[in-house]
Amino acid sequence: MKAFQFVELQKPAELREVKVPEPGPGQVLIKIGGAGACHSDLHILEAPTGALSFSLPFTLGHENAGWVEELGSGATGFAVGDAVLVYGPWGCGSCSNCRVGMENYCENPGQSKPGGLGRDGGMANYMLVPSTRFLLPLGTLDPREAAPLTDAALTSYHAVKRSIQLLGPGSTAVVIGAGGLGQMAIQVLKALSAAATVVAVDTSPAKLETAKLMGADETLLSGADAVQRVKEITRGQGANVVLDMVGVTPTLEMAVQISRVLGHVTIVGIGGGALPVNFHSPAKECSVASPYWGSIPELMEVISLAQAGKIKMLVEQFPLERASEAYHLLHDGMIQGRAVIVPNG
Ligand code: NAD
Ligand code: ZN
Ligand code: ZN
Repeated sequence: MKAFQFVELQKPAELREVKVPEPGPGQVLIKIGGAGACHSDLHILEAPTGALSFSLPFTLGHENAGWVEELGSGATGFAVGDAVLVYGPWGCGSCSNCRVGMENYCENPGQSKPGGLGRDGGMANYMLVPSTRFLLPLGTLDPREAAPLTDAALTSYHAVKRSIQLLGPGSTAVVIGAGGLGQMAIQVLKALSAAATVVAVDTSPAKLETAKLMGADETLLSGADAVQRVKEITRGQGANVVLDMVGVTPTLEMAVQISRVLGHVTIVGIGGGALPVNFHSPAKECSVASPYWGSIPELMEVISLAQAGKIKMLVEQFPLERASEAYHLLHDGMIQGRAVIVPNG
């Protein structure tokens, strides 16, 4: 089969011929419907030498959905042909965080790398998943459309959910970066707290148009005027919740400038910026957190939201042969929602 692989540091990924894996005991072979192209892949492909602990090559694609193709011996709970979403952060399964479904915070992270982030992921015709505990039934959702639920949506959902108690009537949430994750965050905010005012900030007018379609109450081009406008909307108090889906120094600076007493600044973007923190900044008792992905129970809730039609990703499909082009477009800010590679058509 063909696989789009990360082969050499700081080199573009390549389409290569590899063997279809065979599922061992407890494992499952998935026929890939869709594999989303996440901006994290670009950070990885562009990372400086020494910054990564991955052994190469491996197949990209950590945001996957498809159909069960073959069950290894002892793998139960699913039948061949079932449409499934693949939960991405694969933990050890036995530590206390894994036992409650938070494999994103496995206490033995060295034991298992996620597919697409250190071992073979979904940008290929088939992908091996180590256990059925990482599969969630999609029901009537189409894997070619649903793949972004498992990262863009789950990560945003987890980031919003930790702050939900701050998002009552009269509250304001600001989403900085209205790309794949940001557009999902806007929809999740609206679905979980209809009472909150949601403001989207981006450098791209086109992304802000999309943000409006996704439910943002107000959209702002990033810069000093955006800071001023958030202050106006919040009567000088700042936003209850700021979700930074970019994470470069200018967006972190903005997040701090619009932070509110007892608020939350949540850094989701892995842009490599830094935020000075001291007694005076961010605002008093504002907490700063850096959530990573989400839990299996949260992914079940995300699927429910999608099945109810409350969240939907703007998906642009690319065949495997055009995966490289999809990443170039993502790099240039030309993907409006999420690029999803559809290796099996
Ligand atoms: P994306 O490229 O789809 O979206 C990024 C958006 O940010 C674009 O709309 C772009 O125009 C906008 N942007 C860029 N610079 C900006 C600036 N200075 N001010 C305002 N907006 C700006 O990327 P994505 O796939 O949505 O990923 C977003 C970030 O989240 C990436 O850094 C990615 O690595 C990270 N990520 C983190 C996790 C996690 O678990 N924490 C999970 C997935 C992705
Ligand atoms: Zn990702
Ligand atoms: Zn664990």
